[in-house]
Amino acid sequence: MILFAHSFFLAQDAKQREKMKPYAPLSTLLAAALVRRAGREVVLFDATFEAGPQAFIVALERLRPSGVVLMEDNFNFLTKMCTAVRRESALAMVRAARARGCRVAVNGPDAADHPELYLEAGAQVVVLGEGEEAVAETVACWERGEDPDAVAGLVLLGEDGRTQRTAPRRAMQNLDRLPPPAWDLVDVAAYRTAWTRAHGRFSWNIATSRGCPYACNWCAKPTFGRRYTVRSPGDVVREMARLKAEIAPDHLWFTDDILGLDVDWICDFADGVVAAGAAIPFSMQSRVNLMTERAVAALAAAGAREVWLGVETGSQKILDAMDKAATIEAARTATRVLKAHGVKACWFIQLGYPGETWEDLLATRDLIRQEGPQEVGVSVAYPLPGTTFHDRVAAQLGGQRNWKDTGDLAMLFQGTYDSAFYRKVRDVLHREVDTGRWDDAAWTVLEAQAVLHRSPAPSTLAVEA
Ligand code: SF4
Repeated sequence: MILFAHSFFLAQDAKQREKMKPYAPLSTLLAAALVRRAGREVVLFDATFEAGPQAFIVALERLRPSGVVLMEDNFNFLTKMCTAVRRESALAMVRAARARGCRVAVNGPDAADHPELYLEAGAQVVVLGEGEEAVAETVACWERGEDPDAVAGLVLLGEDGRTQRTAPRRAMQNLDRLPPPAWDLVDVAAYRTAWTRAHGRFSWNIATSRGCPYACNWCAKPTFGRRYTVRSPGDVVREMARLKAEIAPDHLWFTDDILGLDVDWICDFADGVVAAGAAIPFSMQSRVNLMTERAVAALAAAGAREVWLGVETGSQKILDAMDKAATIEAARTATRVLKAHGVKACWFIQLGYPGETWEDLLATRDLIRQEGPQEVGVSVAYPLPGTTFHDRVAAQLGGQRNWKDTGDLAMLFQGTYDSAFYRKVRDVLHREVDTGRWDDAAWTVLEAQAVLHRSPAPSTLAVEA
């Protein structure tokens, strides 16, 4: 028996507990479905509603699996940012499985970035990248009593105790070949209850694509890479029809970095959804340059209710420094087109990118005031390993390399201002958007306080870049 698991315990993340928007671990369910299709018995430890790693130990003792696959949900953006507490949980789970004689495979961005940590904790393999096929091949090797060293896309410990990599694995090209996620392994009722109690509706997740071809220099793509591989519109519509019949969510969250890179794909998808009667109101992410009139009209017809856009800032200088390949003008246009079609325009805003001045912060505030996004998600620049941005600020990174939890909002490098100041700016921006009232007095206070919160040696890298 193979026990699949992931390490995201809602109980350990105060911000996410408060938000209460849990999603089933999609990557884990896809890999479990693939292994099961090969005829193997699979079970799931779904950490989401459990208290902590101790519950995993109880599951190990009860189930006594021969192998454990700790597979993080690569489709969940929370997974990209490995918090300190999450890493501790994952390593504790690896150690516990190993101590009970299980073979252990791990997949996820943190394991890909720091394979030695997981191998030293007792994992036999770290599976790089998207993982499903490599996990299935690894499990097949275990069952045959073979070492998986001929499986592409792994990191293992060699006989000399040093890490070694197997041949690189090509990303999956035909995603339609994957089985449907093994939804039967999760407690759907628990997710339904959590959502409906907190929000009065039940949301479920679905993915149509992997990767993103853009190159925003702070954005990590440890799993899917700089590419765009997409399922056929028909395959996605079939999954939506099954979801309607088997899970019956009130709402869908498309996990894609970009839902619909190509407008013809979007139109085919929308036509298919309408023809199959498979529409479920949904939220999605895209880019400002892709929200054309034709794309938005089709998305609205398919059920789009809310589109999240990485607007990031009101300063073109900062957008350019981020290599965002976007303009402030395009953000304005996209927002207006969405609103004209009755779709909520929601913005991701990023504070504290190197070189951002007080005037740039005011430009961000003013853009929000002028265009009126219906919701904003405000964060600070976060140096994710493997990004150009991380390399640029690497020399400034101190002892804290990860946020404690997803609500931390700590500046991990020398921004223009300190963490406390950006938290105040975040709170004022949120308040203005949530209430629809501009709070000039709060900005006057912030301006007066700014000098006290200035970093001793703020990075000006964005300007130099
Ligand atoms: S468009 Fe989004 S997903 Fe793509 S590189 Fe930029 S931030 Fe990352």
